[in-house]
Amino acid sequence: TPPESIRNFCIIAHIDHGKSTLADRMLQMTGVVEARVMRDQYLDRMDIERERGITIKSQAVRLPFTPSSGAHAGQAHVLNLIDTPGHVDFSYEVSRSLAACEGAVLLVDAAQGIEAQTLANLYMAMENDLQIIPVLNKIDLPAAQPDKYAAELAHLIGCEPDEVLRVSGKTGAGVRELLERVVDDVPAPTGEADAPARAMIFDSVYDSYRGVVTYIRVIDGMLTPRERILMMSTKATHELLEIGVISPEMQASSGLSVGEVGYLITGVKDVRQSKVGDTITDAAKPASGGLPGYREPKPMVFSGLYPLDGSDYPDLRDALDKLKLNDAALVYEPETSGALGFGFRCGFLGLLHLEIVRERLEREFGLDLISTAPNVVYEVLMEDGEQHVVTNPSEFPDGKIASVWEPMVRATVLAPSDYVGAIMELCQARRGALLGMDYLSEDRVELRYTLPLAEIVFDFFDALKSRTRGYASLDYEPTEQAESDLVKVDILLHGDPVDAFSAIVHKEKAYAYGVAMASKLRELIPRQQFEVPIQAAIGSRVIARENIRAIRKDVLAKCYGGDITRKRKLLERQKEGKKRMKMVGRVEVPQEAFIAALSSD
Ligand code: GDP
Ligand code: MG
Repeated sequence: TPPESIRNFCIIAHIDHGKSTLADRMLQMTGVVEARVMRDQYLDRMDIERERGITIKSQAVRLPFTPSSGAHAGQAHVLNLIDTPGHVDFSYEVSRSLAACEGAVLLVDAAQGIEAQTLANLYMAMENDLQIIPVLNKIDLPAAQPDKYAAELAHLIGCEPDEVLRVSGKTGAGVRELLERVVDDVPAPTGEADAPARAMIFDSVYDSYRGVVTYIRVIDGMLTPRERILMMSTKATHELLEIGVISPEMQASSGLSVGEVGYLITGVKDVRQSKVGDTITDAAKPASGGLPGYREPKPMVFSGLYPLDGSDYPDLRDALDKLKLNDAALVYEPETSGALGFGFRCGFLGLLHLEIVRERLEREFGLDLISTAPNVVYEVLMEDGEQHVVTNPSEFPDGKIASVWEPMVRATVLAPSDYVGAIMELCQARRGALLGMDYLSEDRVELRYTLPLAEIVFDFFDALKSRTRGYASLDYEPTEQAESDLVKVDILLHGDPVDAFSAIVHKEKAYAYGVAMASKLRELIPRQQFEVPIQAAIGSRVIARENIRAIRKDVLAKCYGGDITRKRKLLERQKEGKKRMKMVGRVEVPQEAFIAALSSD
């Protein structure tokens, strides 16, 4: 296809504003998917995506389209729709998908208006110099206020309100006009047809039959089957076994040239060999430089994952090895916990990524897991100049610490202006610093904060939702680290630290954390034959203490007389109960107590 008749675009939207539904209508309207085989969220191909209604992997689909009106009426075009994930955890993947496009449909729910993710995505699209097409969706809803939100959207991007298109992904109204606008407004791709080939990877997925399927956008030159290709970041070369387009399934072709979007297969078995953002070139005639913007995935949130049943450890390891094939951002290494046994310290892009991995381990591999409270990565600088990167709070160094650094985010909160006070109070309590505040309209306000990532990881979103009756939306992006007054709080049972409960917290919150944890454990741990003190400590300084009083637990005391079978049953039951106990020093702790203590916050 000549570049002049190609348009590469994506749809960007806040979650639930109707991106997937609109994509479905586009697939149907262009005849790529027949009505008879259509299913909702067609492009969300993973089970977990369809069930949760979220997009995790980027996707591309080729839509043949001939406008019936407008500047290009009657001319056949190829539209490549690149579908992007809609969550902050995957913002790097989103940025690479946007870099593969020339235009973006900015989709806003006509009953909700602009939300935090709308803004975050818009800024990202503008950084990539994309042509923005503003669109209001769900105009079929009785609660839609298209005039009001068209004005809001026009004001935001600097256009006239009547340039904002109005569509319904549900009924299909306005979708044809939208595709015609894409043809007219989005620039055709440009690139050098005779230059050495350069293609950008915007996602890759593992397929058990075909190996890794890599999604690419060709920038310069051409890629053809059977040639040797070079991955510029790793310097690895592979034979190009197959290349083609997706419409809506994979269709092999004789090659892809300037501006085209599609897939390729080399037979590799691990997505780490096809890195998002990397540049593919011709191994025999390589390009002189890679495309800008490549970055290694960087785990932001860590958590320990342990099998509930210790004998499942090898299965957990195998499951992680398998998941890794399809998840270049997942990192893990073996870890031993005094409280939880053998497990893995795993690194994730964020909380959603953590949840998805955990859910897949439990569902697809049938594992029962305990996870420790998620924590961020700290950098500790010692007075002697030594530097530690701490991904597990129990490994926070002792000794003379010069400074501790924690990751920060730049957060955007959007809400009705009535809630400004409540939001400020929450952000302040979470150690936030206000950067600025803008009114999008009379009654909607945007607040910008820097906040420690650790404070967001800890139920920030739920707290925000409950203080604003669900009306606030949140988006954030990493920014520079900050030095902070952080300490490690240990929890000791009968003098022995329980590693799974160590936490790194701000000095001012250490006492509250210690008290809460100690009293929670006092409730959860049964009495023992001797008194058990529970202490929270910073170094050797105890900041909170609770006691579990001693008891002589004689189950037989309940059996008067000589009912032998009843006695035996009780003894057996007691023995069974013991099996699920973990020893922390001399203290027996039921595994349920750990699980409850780790999950209730
Ligand atoms: P996404 O999160 O942006 O992909 O949003 P979805 O496409 O999954 O849509 C979110 C919800 O809005 C679903 O329940 C859709 O059925 C509904 N929805 C999407 N588009 C429309 C529309 O045009 N009209 C109405 N009434 N509902 C819509
Ligand atoms: Mg969706």
